[in-house]
Amino acid sequence: MSDKKITLIGAGLVGSLAAVFLAKRGFEVEVYERRPDMREENISAGRSINLALANRGIYPLQQVGLMQQVEKMLTPMKGRMVHDLEGNQNLQPYGQRDEEVIYSVSRADLNTLCMDSAESEGNVTIHFNQKCTSVDFENQLLTLKNELTGEECQKPFVRVIGTDGSASAVRDAIHSVQSEHNYAEQLGHSYKELCIPAGTDGEFQMEPHALHIWPRGGYMLIALPNMDRSFTVTLFMPNEGEISFTAIDNEEKLLAFFNEHFPDAVPLLPELNKDFFENPTGHLATVRCSPWHYQDKALLIGDAAHAVVPFHGQGMNCGFEDVSEFDAQIEKFAGDWNKIFAETDKLRQPNGNAIADMAIENYITMRDSVRDEKFLLKSALAFELEKRFPDRFCPRYSMVMFHRLPYAEAQNRGVIQEAILTELTANVDNLEMVDFENAESLVKSKLSEVDLNPI
Ligand SMILES: Cc1cc2nc3c(=O)[nH]c(=O)nc-3n(C[C@H](O)[C@H](O)[C@H](O)COP(=O)(O)OP(=O)(O)OC[C@H]3O[C@@H](n4cnc5c(N)ncnc54)[C@H](O)[C@@H]3O)c2cc1C
Repeated sequence: MSDKKITLIGAGLVGSLAAVFLAKRGFEVEVYERRPDMREENISAGRSINLALANRGIYPLQQVGLMQQVEKMLTPMKGRMVHDLEGNQNLQPYGQRDEEVIYSVSRADLNTLCMDSAESEGNVTIHFNQKCTSVDFENQLLTLKNELTGEECQKPFVRVIGTDGSASAVRDAIHSVQSEHNYAEQLGHSYKELCIPAGTDGEFQMEPHALHIWPRGGYMLIALPNMDRSFTVTLFMPNEGEISFTAIDNEEKLLAFFNEHFPDAVPLLPELNKDFFENPTGHLATVRCSPWHYQDKALLIGDAAHAVVPFHGQGMNCGFEDVSEFDAQIEKFAGDWNKIFAETDKLRQPNGNAIADMAIENYITMRDSVRDEKFLLKSALAFELEKRFPDRFCPRYSMVMFHRLPYAEAQNRGVIQEAILTELTANVDNLEMVDFENAESLVKSKLSEVDLNPI
């Protein structure tokens, strides 16, 4: 009987989806969540109001039959709409097939759907306002603090899954008894959310089917569409320095900064001052740790194991993929929890590290490279090579966003592909000048055939 009990810490996106998977396998699931129930209290959903959902996140939602409901919440984004200083807009498509789009989705709506779905299974209980403060593995006891009353209590557990996000208490507990490494690398840049409301006609004020970017080198503004026809806008900028969150400390400086660097956005941001000075500043870090499990007692998934910076739009997608992979190991090693946890850890850790690296790289791409002619030529050539050699060449962005081959493999192939693109574009200004005979020989000699969507 005890083998049917699982405790989750955290009912965020990953915890509530994990609860759905586990419930469907017949487990009795207890979830302890620090915050109040977002379905009853008007609390912010936490970081980032909306998120980009892509194939890796969609697949697990399909596995548990939630995609039909999720589809109603989605706004497709076909590419990056790059805004230059003069206000000109240029769409850079993410992919070259109709289905190669990513989707903007509300964090709160998706989290609510996963919690509702978990509870509707009948064997999941979510306890709100319960913060896990420590895990005693020897006696298999959790200490929980009621966030409303301050009271502490202890609860027994059989197995605990840490889905408690980047500042995970379960991670700290595992690493207090067994640790190779556990650290957060601060990016030195933070973010602030702003809002472009719907226009007076109730419609979007910019193209809705795109992720808008104002790339400015060391910093950038981005905007993702919402179902209510507004855009959530995010400013990413260094913490310190001439252009930084510290430097912009009054309304005058804020307006001067926006007028100089994002002039076309200013008329669309009626609450700029209020949003900037009242909304919290979110800090960005990459969490890397090992191991992600402890014996047959505990496992980390989602941001608890691998918080990544948000520039590839993959944190949640990766966390959902963790859940699906964990479920596959439960199926494979039926009841052998040492193996289930160890294998999930072994399979996911290299991939968590790979997406962490690629997410940091993508900050440079978004805030800078998208303005560069060579980058645009390489992107066009990457699409052309994908057309000519679809079984070997797939642009790295597409491997990460539109396919499900392991992140680590996408990263490795991406390095080889980048070298090929660099060689082929070394002395050319346009696609017509590329030596495609050399391209064929490079692709065939350096890239093996690829399975983009392993089962
Ligand atoms: C600005 C920004 C934009 C982003 N955009 C994207 C995107 O476009 N696409 C994408 O895929 N990802 C994106 N991400 C990443 C994404 O938000 C995270 O990867 C995702 O939220 C991870 O889900 P999680 O459930 O693991 O953690 P969280 O969402 O952090 O949830 C953890 C839950 O655990 C609870 N909790 C924490 N500590 C305790 C405790 N001690 N006891 C009990 N409960 C606890 C928290 O209250 C929370 O509900 C973005 C992140 C940021 C910051």
